[in-house]
Amino acid sequence: MSILPIYLFGTEVLKKKAKPVETLDDSTVKLIFDMFETMHKANGIGLAANQVGDLRRVITIDISDVTEPNAEGEMEDSAHPTSPDLPRTLALINPEIVNEEGAWSMEEGCLSLPGVRGAVERAEKVRIRFRDSEFKKQELFMDGFLARVVLHEFDHLNGVLFVDRVNKAKRSMLLPKLRKIRKGELDPDYPVVTAAKV
Ligand SMILES: [Zn+2]
Repeated sequence: MSILPIYLFGTEVLKKKAKPVETLDDSTVKLIFDMFETMHKANGIGLAANQVGDLRRVITIDISDVTEPNAEGEMEDSAHPTSPDLPRTLALINPEIVNEEGAWSMEEGCLSLPGVRGAVERAEKVRIRFRDSEFKKQELFMDGFLARVVLHEFDHLNGVLFVDRVNKAKRSMLLPKLRKIRKGELDPDYPVVTAAKV
């Protein structure tokens, strides 16, 4: 396994639409392992292949160590818990949204946008069709924080970042930070590729 550098805001690959995986070959299996290792190394809870410079429709999630926060960053009580029977660690290949329901807002961050946070409204409940890490067809109903993380990563596969979904006033407040990231003027504690040196 290898730790891959994470592509930061401003790089072209984050704006591209990823392509479906046709077969689960060795290279895709390796990509999934590497994405898990990369995500854990960076203390992330979700990663899309675009973020490691790869345009395959692959997402890795691990929220097993997360105490679910609410919009204020405090402990979640009962507002939007993830159902206890849902997996906390999973890989999704070629995910598709079957349907979405409800809406709630929460502050999000992203490994491709170090130091940037903003509230995003997303569906409360979602049904996702995907292939699992053995390329078996799955359909899973998800809610709470898990649904949010999957929707955030799903956006990445379509070239959409969470800052594209925050309101205009907040986005303009984030601009100076975004400019810094684009210029490579920051130093997260994980390997990165910036727009300044792709
Ligand atoms: Zn992200």
